[in-house]
Formats: sequence, C-alpha cells, structure tokens
Amino acid sequence: MKRLILLGGLLGVGALSLAAAQPPAAPAGPRVIDIQKLKDNLYVLTTSTPGNPATFSGGNVAVFITDGGVTLVDTKLNGWGQAVLDKVKSVTDKPITTIINTHTHGDHTGNNGFFGANVEVVAHENTKTNMEKMDAFKGDGAKFLPKKTYKDKLTVGAGKDRIDLYYFGAGHTNGDTFVVFPALRVLHTGDMFAWKDAPFCDRNNGGSCVELPRTLQKAIAGIKNVDTIIPGHSPMQTPKDLQDFQRFTADLLSHAVNSMKAGKSVDEATAAFTVDKYPGYKNERVKAAVQAVYDELKK
Ligand SMILES: [Zn+2]
Repeated sequence: MKRLILLGGLLGVGALSLAAAQPPAAPAGPRVIDIQKLKDNLYVLTTSTPGNPATFSGGNVAVFITDGGVTLVDTKLNGWGQAVLDKVKSVTDKPITTIINTHTHGDHTGNNGFFGANVEVVAHENTKTNMEKMDAFKGDGAKFLPKKTYKDKLTVGAGKDRIDLYYFGAGHTNGDTFVVFPALRVLHTGDMFAWKDAPFCDRNNGGSCVELPRTLQKAIAGIKNVDTIIPGHSPMQTPKDLQDFQRFTADLLSHAVNSMKAGKSVDEATAAFTVDKYPGYKNERVKAAVQAVYDELKK
C-alpha cells in the first residue's frame, strides 16, 4: 500500500516537471465547472477550491438572472470563460450584460475579456486602479476594465433585480466589494471571506490583515437581512459563519500583535496559534497571515 502511494507521488512529480517544461500550460482535460442553484434566478458556479490546477477554475461566480440580462459576480481564471458561458447557457437564454468584479485578482477577473467590451464591468474604484497594473488590462486589454466604479456604496437595478455593492475598507485587498441581492437575501463576499482558514492579505494590492477584522465587523453591522453567503472559494455559508470568521481574524490579529511585542519570531507565533476553537478551520494559511501582520506593523 505504502509503495503504491509512493509510486503515485513519483508519478505526480513527473507530471509536474513535464508541465513545467512546456509553455504556459493549460490544465489537461475538459474544463467543467459545477453549478449550484440557490434561487430561481440565482446560481453559483463553483469548482472554486484552490490546490489542483486541473480543476481549480477560480473563485465562486454568482449568476444573477434579471429582466434585462445576466449579471456575473466575478469571472474566474483566464481560460475558463467557455466553461462559464456553457453553464450560464444551461440555465438561461439571456445575454450576459453586467460583470461585477469583487476585487482585482486573476481568479476573479480572468474572463472579463472573454465576455467582451460590450458588457458593463463594475468594481470599486481601488480595484480598477489595481486592475490597471495587471498585464491582462494593459494596452488593448484596457477596454475590459471597469467602466463604472464607486467609493462607498452603489446600487444597480431596482426591485427584484436590485444589487447593492458595498465597500467597507481594506482587507484581502484595498478594493473588495460585498455584493448583496436584497430580494434574495444573499451576499457574495468575494475573498473577504474566502475559506475557513487564515485570510490572505495581499499587501501589494493594499490588503491589510490589520484592518481586516474591523472591515469585516463593519460589513456584518452594515449588511442586514441576509440568509445565505457565497464565499470566495468554499461552499455556501451562513451569516453565523461570517461572524465566526470575523472573530477568527480578530483572534489571529491580536495573537500576532502580542507575539510580535513579546519578541517572538513568525514561526514561534504561528506554532502557538491554535484553530481548535473554530470547528472546521484549517491552519494552512496561518503562517502567511502572521507574516503579513508582522510586515505591516514593522513599516
Ligand atoms: Zn483574491
């Protein structure tokens, strides 16, 4: 049994180095994205758990079917556009008219170009600035940048088709939008709540693990009447799960701050942090988050 596992491991390494030797390799095999129905007019394109490049399609995409057309929240990784379109077409004949990008990262903006320049792209103003630094949105790609931006809050559509976009401050980046479908009582958090593990705070795009707990607290206080949460990269959650995540990020922050004050190294601080209080949580990303807090406070 052991030998079989070892052999599997070696084959895996072989496959990896082969892939590395080739030009920007598309993952092998058909690209298929799972779709989950949340409401009659709201679906989620999942297959969003990072780790396996052959099956990781990018962050959870909300597909909101309105009278005027389809709004997508995020567009997954470049190369997965046809797979997104196939799944949208499986539930509606309406065209995609609007894209909301929750933030700048390529696993959430990778197919803006695939859906064309006639689709209206909406994002927070800082996200537009961050996207302008990405190769995909330079030169000719600039026409796929957000045309509509906002600062604190923006409402798109009305009645049952209404979407509210909120910005509460820095966290994962400095431009993360919380997207609410009020008539459906659903919230898409993007990567402000990506998974049950430590947050990724992208300091190159203005992210802050120091600000994150406060920003999440503002979101919890400011967004009411929601039952279902679409997180960035994991299965559907509840408002209680978001509250637990907020507490987790606050605990992690105070642990990192206190460890730094006590002269502990990042490794020591990481080893002393336990996720046991938080059922279902992993600690795979704790070290990077502790490091991010140390780096941020050292500045
Ligand atoms: Zn992200």
